[in-house]
Amino acid sequence: MTDRIPLALVGIGKIARDQHIPSIAGGNDFVVSVAVSRHGKVEGAENFTDFDAFLAARPDIKVVSLCTPPEVRFDMAKAAIAAGRHVLMEKPPATTLGEAEALTKLAEDAGVTLFATWHSRFALGVEPARQWLSDKVIQSISIVWKEDVRRWHPGQDWIWEPGGFGVFDPGINALSILTEIVPGHIMVEKSVIEFPENKKQPIAASIAMRTVDGAPISAEFDWRQEGPQTWDITVQTNAGELRLSKGGSELYIGGVEHASGPDREYAGIYERFAKLIRARQSDTDYQPLRIVADSFLCGERKVVASFED
Ligand code: NAP
Repeated sequence: MTDRIPLALVGIGKIARDQHIPSIAGGNDFVVSVAVSRHGKVEGAENFTDFDAFLAARPDIKVVSLCTPPEVRFDMAKAAIAAGRHVLMEKPPATTLGEAEALTKLAEDAGVTLFATWHSRFALGVEPARQWLSDKVIQSISIVWKEDVRRWHPGQDWIWEPGGFGVFDPGINALSILTEIVPGHIMVEKSVIEFPENKKQPIAASIAMRTVDGAPISAEFDWRQEGPQTWDITVQTNAGELRLSKGGSELYIGGVEHASGPDREYAGIYERFAKLIRARQSDTDYQPLRIVADSFLCGERKVVASFED
């Protein structure tokens, strides 16, 4: 316990409680010494309601993990970097590419670690899928990412506001896996983005993309799926079919199961964060965010029926 790095956890909401707190406690690298949240608290930690007050009062806490919605992340990350802290950011890292890239530069100049996390990249099947695909010819890719917003974002108004990403909040997880397992750039060709009449952010999107070698990629994101949830990526190659199921936690090659097991996404995130800090390195890959931005640039906007959540 004594060797653990004291950490400030910021934005004590669903993901902080469901994943960050148990994963930090179950690992060997960090301990939640401080929590910063206007309403949430962490038992056993010193609790602050104001981020700047925390930065001023606890200069000894060198590591900050931001679990707030993306809308407020830039200001917090900027202030933390300026105060010489290492920063972990939940996904999506920022509301725009401009903000994200500015943070990379600020962290580089300040000599601190910035880790823009993509938790789905730590799902069990993703690394073996990346390795298997590395010497295959990709012929086509199909992504189906359909879930129930009421189940995963109960009472969260921010997801429907500008900067909240709407259905791209889960969809960007699929894009983070896609950009991890496919070598080279991915380009958006066109998209249809569906906005409920009463919401400012989309509830569904169909995106047509291509790999740099020309293989077509289709993505279907939908937040209206009740019952069983679908988080599948299927890749057709010259050596057969690869399928990542259940958000990347199960890998099938030619229909045969190759990897599955207990979820270690956030355990993996904190292990990597500790390594980055020790190596004085950053990890900021914004490709998934760029695909979201490009989808809006090439997007046809469609207004659909109102949605009550
Ligand atoms: P959440 O339940 O709304 O929690 C976020 C917390 O951040 C809030 O409880 C709030 O705590 C604080 N906060 C600070 N400024 C805020 C603002 N302007 N608006 C709303 N809350 C604000 O959200 P979450 O589901 O934990 O998601 C947070 C981040 O994690 C998002 O980027 C999301 O994409 C990512 N994530 C979520 C999930 C999931 O399943 N929900 C999964 C993976 C990743 P105080 O009011 O106490 O300050």
